[in-house]
Amino acid sequence: MIVIMLGAPASGKGTQSVIVAQRLKVPHISTGDIFRWNIANNTAVGEEAKKYIDKGILVPDELTIRILKERIEKEDCERGFVLDGFPRTINQQQSLDRMLTECNKSINMAINLSVTDDEVIRRISGRRMCKCGKAYHIVTYPPKTPGICDLCNGELYTRKDDTVEVANTRLEAYKLQTEPILAVYRERGIVVDIDGHKPQEQVAEDVWKEILKYSEKHGWM
Ligand code: AMP
Repeated sequence: MIVIMLGAPASGKGTQSVIVAQRLKVPHISTGDIFRWNIANNTAVGEEAKKYIDKGILVPDELTIRILKERIEKEDCERGFVLDGFPRTINQQQSLDRMLTECNKSINMAINLSVTDDEVIRRISGRRMCKCGKAYHIVTYPPKTPGICDLCNGELYTRKDDTVEVANTRLEAYKLQTEPILAVYRERGIVVDIDGHKPQEQVAEDVWKEILKYSEKHGWM
């Protein structure tokens, strides 16, 4: 089961792909998380990626494809995985196809979480993160105790690339470089569109319903 989660920055990709991965019992793979781990651990990959991430532009394909390949070759990906934030360019999409074809696999489904540009900016400017991966919004989805994660009591922080200025650059990168991927997947008939404006729990249910519908039709799971 290989599921790709597509959508603009802050469309809910991270939150929803964690839920889908848990339900499907396969790994959740976020290239953004892999880069952030590398930055926090001062690796050479982190040092290189940081130059781009802080500005809101995409990390070059060569590096991104390499870290993704290393991750999906691990044994826990045998049964499938949920991809969050990859592919983001046509080049990455084609490389992923080649990697999967080599091991006789293919993408089962691409979920497109759609939100308006205004909503992207509103979400990014109020987003607070926890190290455990849980995301909050200071107005629409606040933690029970301000600044503290409901799940693990961790201290919440603001991502360095979650400023309005950087958000606009990220949105532009999404439209120019990532949106064309949707057209490719649409042609294959594997895209499911989900309204990402609804509350998180409702979006999760809508996504799951579509996955069940799709699985029944294609006989997987
Ligand atoms: P995300 O956590 O998915 O919003 O990613 C945060 C940042 O990491 C992006 O704005 C990019 O700079 C970088 N990044 C993550 N995934 C990719 C990718 N597939 N290709 C290029 N850059 C990426």
